[in-house]
Amino acid sequence: MAKRDYYEVLGVNKSASKDEIKKAYRKLALKYHPDKNKGNKASEEKFKEASEAYHVLSDDKRKTNYDQFGHAAFESGGNQGFGNFDFGSSFSDIFEDFFGDDIFGSSRRSNRRGSNRGNDLRYDINIDLEEAYKGLNKKINYTSYKKCIRCSGQGSEPGTKPSTCSYCRGQGKIRSSQGFFTIQQTCPECSGYGESISNPCKQCSGNGKIQSQETLSVKIPKGVDDGTRIRVSGKGEAGSKGGSSGDLYLFISIDNHSIFKRSDEHLYFELPITFTDAALGTSVEVPSIDGGKAKIKIPSGTQHGKQLRLKGKGMPVLRGSGYGDLYIKIITEIPTNLNSKQKELLEDFRKIESEKSSPIMKSFFEKAKKFWNNS
Ligand SMILES: [Zn+2]
Ligand SMILES: [Zn+2]
Repeated sequence: MAKRDYYEVLGVNKSASKDEIKKAYRKLALKYHPDKNKGNKASEEKFKEASEAYHVLSDDKRKTNYDQFGHAAFESGGNQGFGNFDFGSSFSDIFEDFFGDDIFGSSRRSNRRGSNRGNDLRYDINIDLEEAYKGLNKKINYTSYKKCIRCSGQGSEPGTKPSTCSYCRGQGKIRSSQGFFTIQQTCPECSGYGESISNPCKQCSGNGKIQSQETLSVKIPKGVDDGTRIRVSGKGEAGSKGGSSGDLYLFISIDNHSIFKRSDEHLYFELPITFTDAALGTSVEVPSIDGGKAKIKIPSGTQHGKQLRLKGKGMPVLRGSGYGDLYIKIITEIPTNLNSKQKELLEDFRKIESEKSSPIMKSFFEKAKKFWNNS
């Protein structure tokens, strides 16, 4: 099923302020919250859809990425993107201050009982523009937590079983009354698992996971931009007690290039030429991002500031097809440090310069003359 546009989901337009986005989401979330619509699959889907849209549009960086790339911004090489997106976090931003912890008692916190998904990890990668052009495989090393083999991630010494948590009587949560409200909290003794480990595993001290050094070869697709985020599914920290692993997110930064500047899939640079080449015309070899050369023709009479376009010589379109263009702005360099021979030739040239060869200047001074005559 095609994903709906996030702005459409929240019913706001692209220029909506943070506040408007928050308001729109709050309205939808209250309407479709699973606690209010028990067993209603359609509203659960709506709730998730709205939460996901809010998660993205409420964050400046994510929003910029989305505005630029659409849903593709959060997908890694054709994966399902936010498939197992945890809507709890953004939801809590908005509601915890209004309702306390309790509203999540039955939906969010209950996920904690029994098993727990592992943490997502973030890994920052710096690459240069040529690498972004070609795409690359990069070997990365990072510290993570993997499942303890000895206890299969359960935390109990093999052959022993955990006992029911006496603090919460196995409920994983405790309730207390504060005036009008009943507050429900995750049990501090067992962190919501409902059981406590009486014989901790000797390998992992009962954590069910142990710190590990991971090495991973990741594929960075061609066309990535500064700020692109790539999700590597299941490569985050191991979950607890059979919970699924978190994801690893690669945050791409691209170093400034000495020649090329980039805007989306297009590239730019300024090409300085001499004033004689600008006047007489020439052809020049210029660098192209693939490491090669491109030959461009400078027609005679090329003015300073003129922009040339080389079609298809830009960056690859990320997760699309084709390439952007290369724009070259001509800068006419006025000669300095003239030697006597050059000065002499230019003095001679000045004597025979005509208005016909400088039509822009001619036109300006005609206007100036009129201006003086009229005033
Ligand atoms: Zn263990
Ligand atoms: Zn407990």
